[in-house]
Amino acid sequence: MKVFRRELEDRSTDPAGRRWIFVPYDQLSDGIGPLAHEDPSELGIVVVESRWKARRRPYHRQKLALLLSNLRRFALEQAERGVAVRHVVGDAPYSKLLEGVARELGPLRVMRPAERELRADLEPLVSKGLLEEIPHEGWLTTHEQFEAAFAGGKRWRMDAFYRQVRRDTGILMKNGKPVGGKLSFDTENRKPWKGEPAAPKPPRFQPDEIVEEVVQLLESDLADHPGRIDPSALPTTKKDAERLWRWSKRNCMEHFGPYEDAMSSRSRTLFHTQISALMNLHRLLPARIVADVAAMDLPIASQEGFIRQVLGWREFMHHVHEATDGFRQLPDGTEIAVAKTPGDGGFARWSGKRWRTGRAPARIDGGARPSVLDADAELPPAFWGATSGLACLDGVVEDVWETGYGHHITRLMILSNLGTLLGVSPRELTDWFWVAYTDAYDWVVEPNVLGMGTFGLGDLFTTKPYVSGAAYIDKMSDYCGACRFSPKRDCPVTSLYWDFLARNEPALRGNPRIAMPLRSLAKRAPERRAQDRDVHAWVRDTLAKGEALKPEDRP
Ligand SMILES: Cc1cc2nc3c(=O)[nH]c(=O)nc-3n(C[C@H](O)[C@H](O)[C@H](O)COP(=O)(O)OP(=O)(O)OC[C@H]3O[C@@H](n4cnc5c(N)ncnc54)[C@H](O)[C@@H]3O)c2cc1C
Ligand code: SF4
Repeated sequence: MKVFRRELEDRSTDPAGRRWIFVPYDQLSDGIGPLAHEDPSELGIVVVESRWKARRRPYHRQKLALLLSNLRRFALEQAERGVAVRHVVGDAPYSKLLEGVARELGPLRVMRPAERELRADLEPLVSKGLLEEIPHEGWLTTHEQFEAAFAGGKRWRMDAFYRQVRRDTGILMKNGKPVGGKLSFDTENRKPWKGEPAAPKPPRFQPDEIVEEVVQLLESDLADHPGRIDPSALPTTKKDAERLWRWSKRNCMEHFGPYEDAMSSRSRTLFHTQISALMNLHRLLPARIVADVAAMDLPIASQEGFIRQVLGWREFMHHVHEATDGFRQLPDGTEIAVAKTPGDGGFARWSGKRWRTGRAPARIDGGARPSVLDADAELPPAFWGATSGLACLDGVVEDVWETGYGHHITRLMILSNLGTLLGVSPRELTDWFWVAYTDAYDWVVEPNVLGMGTFGLGDLFTTKPYVSGAAYIDKMSDYCGACRFSPKRDCPVTSLYWDFLARNEPALRGNPRIAMPLRSLAKRAPERRAQDRDVHAWVRDTLAKGEALKPEDRP
């Protein structure tokens, strides 16, 4: 920590008489909150590095590197502006590390943390008056807007929320009418990618001494965390964030819409921006991102498609998480059981080593465990890098452990799809996503996986399970060409799909969005259904042993 401490010391200002703010790891912006509105020379910030938090789950090392480097860079940037900085390091929950600081400096202000887990941690300081929670200015919509969109007991659906918000905000609207003539161009955005137009290469960043020091720390102190660290893929300064966003606007936006759902082994990123990790840290502010894209001259399917992601999906997921207390309390009064401790997403089974977390008070639990389809299988080691023999899964998993990144369609239609078809516990799959992706925090990963990816919450806010057989994967990707299985002949994913429908038929009956597949299932010959069951058992048992599937072994 020598370099960082020295640089901080070089920029230090007199801390006396400051109004102090606690800045959590994911509020790294002076464009919102007191840092945006008040005189920097009158303010002080407290930033915390908690080893306890880092050890809570086996987080990807790239994620820890991104977080720590950005936190340190942000602290230096604020010191440069004349803000006093208190840098706290320890191996305990935030509430423990901050209590003494708040007693010494006086009550700290904090924008309402986005993560429920952090809110639970900080709760005693709020009740003792040592921490004052103020509104989080990073969100684009309010909870009142969310409630208004579903007044009268309407079901939570992203589309309805998004349509309402477009009207409320006037974004992409002209004279009260949607630009382009309709509010959503979703149905036009489903092209596979065949190599043209060329997919852009993501920018690289020059690691500086601050990044190098963080990497050293991770390699010495947190070496048993999984995943590869690639320092040159880490945007860490305010300038880096700007560079990434300029690159995204120039290279991704035009073709974003049509190829939004495409997948390819020739490009991990296609026309996706890769800004989620920085947006979730508030290095890039969502309001600015949406405003910039709305002001661009773009094909409407791309412009609307992108804005829907940030103004629609991102905000909607946040509201659903808050409104249900992280899915502990559903709107109909159902209470969902929670895990007492955080899950490791199958890390121990794969590595053979137990993941040890520090002690936590009972209020900081391991998250809700809904499973409408009673899925409770363990996540196979294939998600940690053991070869499964399924080219689609192996390629995407390799990418994730190399980079901590994947775009939404690989997350949904490869990883969640396979997990759901195998009947994996939604909680375990969510914990895996939480540790593996650099942009994952409870408010966003839980709705996306517990809800959308696995149908663990039923139709609470999605209409149907997002599952498919090989036909969809073959149509939307080039993965099958490199696979030992054939999507038309013997791909196990297709049998898994039919067996999933058969197993869950009673729970899914009556869902109009799944009625057609269920009608096809009804026509499937009994011998084929029996074979689907056998293939499921074979895939489940082979992958559970960490072994690869081979076409010649298929039942
Ligand atoms: C199973 C599953 C798990 C996911 N887990 C996460 C997660 O942990 N963290 C996360 O930020 N996103 C998550 N997403 C949403 C989405 O996959 C990522 O936001 C996106 O892939 C990030 O890459 P990008 O910045 O290149 O996105 P782009 O394709 O360029 O999209 C632009 C932005 O839209 C926003 N966005 C789009 N869809 C969603 C969504 N469903 N929820 C929230 N924001 C959205 C993101 O901020 C993203 O940066 C998940 C989606 C699925 C299906
Ligand atoms: S053939 Fe099946 S397992 Fe192989 S890549 Fe295609 S969908 Fe995946």
